[in-house]
Amino acid sequence: MFFRFFILFVGSILFMNCTSISSKKSPKAVLVIHGGAGWISRTSVTDSMEHAYAETLKESLLKGREIIKSGGSSLDAVQIAIEHLEDSPLFNAGKGSVFTYHETNEMDSAIMDGATANAGAATGISTIKNPIQVARAVLDHSVHVFLSGSGAEEFAIEQGLKQVDSSYFFTQNNFDKLLEAKTSMKEVKQDKLGTVGAVALDQNGNLAAGTSTGGMTNKRYGRIGDVPVIGAGTYAENGVCGISATGHGEYFIRYVVAHDIAARIKYDHQSIEQASTQVIQTLKTKGGLGGVIGLDATGTVVMPFNTIGMFRGYIPLEGEPVVALYGDD
Ligand code: ASP
Repeated sequence: MFFRFFILFVGSILFMNCTSISSKKSPKAVLVIHGGAGWISRTSVTDSMEHAYAETLKESLLKGREIIKSGGSSLDAVQIAIEHLEDSPLFNAGKGSVFTYHETNEMDSAIMDGATANAGAATGISTIKNPIQVARAVLDHSVHVFLSGSGAEEFAIEQGLKQVDSSYFFTQNNFDKLLEAKTSMKEVKQDKLGTVGAVALDQNGNLAAGTSTGGMTNKRYGRIGDVPVIGAGTYAENGVCGISATGHGEYFIRYVVAHDIAARIKYDHQSIEQASTQVIQTLKTKGGLGGVIGLDATGTVVMPFNTIGMFRGYIPLEGEPVVALYGDD
């Protein structure tokens, strides 16, 4: 109950969803995160789950901010914040990844450095504990940008990343969701989509963005979502913005969502609030559900979404983390 009250209180002093975004002043932060968008409503989340989500988001924000405070890079902050969410079974990334049609886990991840336009991405990860580390290793230690499947895993192992048995990724909840999706013959089960992402701005003014996901329940044929597609689900450019998306990936790929927001800021001189709100509202008219988080070059926070709710939060250089879950927060 305390958290419900806390979240309500926090929500009342913030804009959060796209309908109210333009009328209120956006906060400033050094790190913003999401834990997925979807059917996240007060009736679908119990008090104890609400507490668990809020606590995990806050821990992630505090861990990431610690990096920035100590003079570390936005890339490191993004990675650390995402790793914490990947280690939780609550979110659809790492440990809590959803199941494919074949009852496996195939994870996607990406990270981008706004200072250099270097990026690393991976798809079809099935045994590496923290998929965001694969993306980071691709960025740091490979001449390529995007690795897939067995090649990506081989590279990750060469880089010394921690491998786990595929049973590590089993959660009963996600397995039940798969069975439900198969029974109802849905290609994609959309409730809490649960992907995780982070955007950070460090003390040198460098932006970075990263995203990690198990994709969509019941996915088939090696389906790849928007997360590892640079410009669709993940994008960062110094002086412009950093963006991480969550939602129905096919739409985020088609409408190149993250880069579209950046282009509007860069070429049309829109504010990040205007650009992100318009893109997410327009996406809904095309049938694309989801949201984004972002920071501009001055640390302006945006978190628009067109779903019922989105797990999200931000943290300034000094002060408390702020987290929210629902659309009316
Ligand atoms: N965007 C992810 C995908 O389509 C799913 C999500 O955000 O939850 O793979």
